[in-house]
Amino acid sequence: MPIQIDPPPNNHERGRACRDAYKSLRGRFQGELLRPGDPGYEQARKIWNGLVARRPGLIARCVDVGDVRTAIRIAIDTRTPTAVRCGGHSLAGFSTCDGGFVIDLSRMRDVTVDPDARLARVAGGCLLGSIDEATQKAGLVFPSGVVSHTGASGLILGGGTGWLTRRFGLSCDNVAAFTLVTADGSIVRADRRENADLYWALRGGGGNFGVVTEFELKLHPLTSVVLAEGLTPENSIRHLLACWRDFMADAPFHLKWNIDLRLAPHKPELPANLRGRPVAGSSLVWTGAPDEAQRYFEQAFSLCQPDSVRSQTVPFLHLQTMADSDFPHGRRYYTKSGYFRYIDDRTIDCFLEALTTIPSPETQMELTYLGGAAGQVAANETAFGDRSAAFITNLLANWQDAHTDALHISWIRSLFKKLRPTMTPGVYVNFMSGDEQDRVPEAYQQRWERMVAVKTQYDPDNFFRLNQNVQPHRKA
Ligand SMILES: Cc1cc2nc3c(=O)[nH]c(=O)nc-3n(C[C@H](O)[C@H](O)[C@H](O)COP(=O)(O)OP(=O)(O)OC[C@H]3O[C@@H](n4cnc5c(N)ncnc54)[C@H](O)[C@@H]3O)c2cc1C
Repeated sequence: MPIQIDPPPNNHERGRACRDAYKSLRGRFQGELLRPGDPGYEQARKIWNGLVARRPGLIARCVDVGDVRTAIRIAIDTRTPTAVRCGGHSLAGFSTCDGGFVIDLSRMRDVTVDPDARLARVAGGCLLGSIDEATQKAGLVFPSGVVSHTGASGLILGGGTGWLTRRFGLSCDNVAAFTLVTADGSIVRADRRENADLYWALRGGGGNFGVVTEFELKLHPLTSVVLAEGLTPENSIRHLLACWRDFMADAPFHLKWNIDLRLAPHKPELPANLRGRPVAGSSLVWTGAPDEAQRYFEQAFSLCQPDSVRSQTVPFLHLQTMADSDFPHGRRYYTKSGYFRYIDDRTIDCFLEALTTIPSPETQMELTYLGGAAGQVAANETAFGDRSAAFITNLLANWQDAHTDALHISWIRSLFKKLRPTMTPGVYVNFMSGDEQDRVPEAYQQRWERMVAVKTQYDPDNFFRLNQNVQPHRKA
């Protein structure tokens, strides 16, 4: 079941444009240029989501801001449809395209930490893991996502939620400045004082405004957390969800409690009676003083099967990498997401019913509660979507066999349709699939007009359109 993310390819025109771009780039480009048939091309063309298998006509692996600038100018001159790639983890598959051009930043992964100023300079091709490793050497953290092989650029530009969101805010709330190359080839800095509108739009607006070559990130001291995990059997999930919903409203900022509804894996460390059965997995992270954790974990533990509960203090780097193998590259993924102001009985019914028909052991319905420091940032301070609806669900299908695409995609679509009436409008752009362009204005709501205005100023021809796209005003 193909997911259309860009206009139908005219193969002939794209082929010509890529050939022209290649000729112009050769000799002016410091990095690596890869075309179909070149050694390394097959590996380089792949992105994380195996559902989106495309064959770009040209991949340009930039080594510095000069390369990015050259690549953008030539792509525009040759009218080549262009994707931009950092970690290639776009669930929607936006960092590739058929027959077009990919500006690939994977060779730009420098991280420099200034421990005294608690700032890091991070190049536009970094993965989350490279930031974590560099910042931990100084005992500092940047609040980001939960899988270390995710690209930092896509995650930060869309918003960025993770274990530390309630304590320190979204990733985008912790960016002091961006350096980017815009569609006219200018190198622009955006911070609180300089290009303030662009600074506002880049914090949640995705890749709409240019290629970010450097982020200046605010860091916080932290080296370990208390982590607890436990499983709730099917017949107690209703009670768990109701208690979690009520508990989180008053929970301290130091506590994150996520719930995954899924089939329990067949792992020897899990209780035998739960393996392969529908369960709710609770994952709790406490970032405050370790001896205070137990007080807040007790409620969760009382709702889990006792022999499934584990709790320990872990290094921050362990926390950040523990889910890496659950989301391998190359499998097929499809997602839909939304916000709830409140998880009512009807919503719980929907989730419970869906658990009985879940089509893959790796598919999960994730529930997380935002609030905390992220909820304290005013709605109009950044472009990022609704911060007042604290509950976020991410329905993530995960499977291997291409012949069963329709089954998994339709399961997510039908569940989303059932949940939609109790959701509040709004969606987090990084959890959207590639077939939801109609929901992009919903992601920004009352911020939409300002987004369009900034887009029109910096990318009036919509060169950067392989993203959750904000279309500029039409030219008169
Ligand atoms: C395994 C996995 C775990 C995830 N976990 C989380 C999580 O914990 N929290 C969370 O918030 N999200 C999470 N996400 C979603 C994630 O934030 C998005 O998929 C994000 O787009 C990934 O960034 P990337 O750089 O790898 O993406 P890419 O696929 O490289 O790019 C995604 C989009 O960003 C644009 N882009 C990339 N780099 C740049 C740049 N330098 N300048 C301008 N635009 C750019 C691209 O053009 C594209 O539109 C996860 C995704 C995956 C696959």
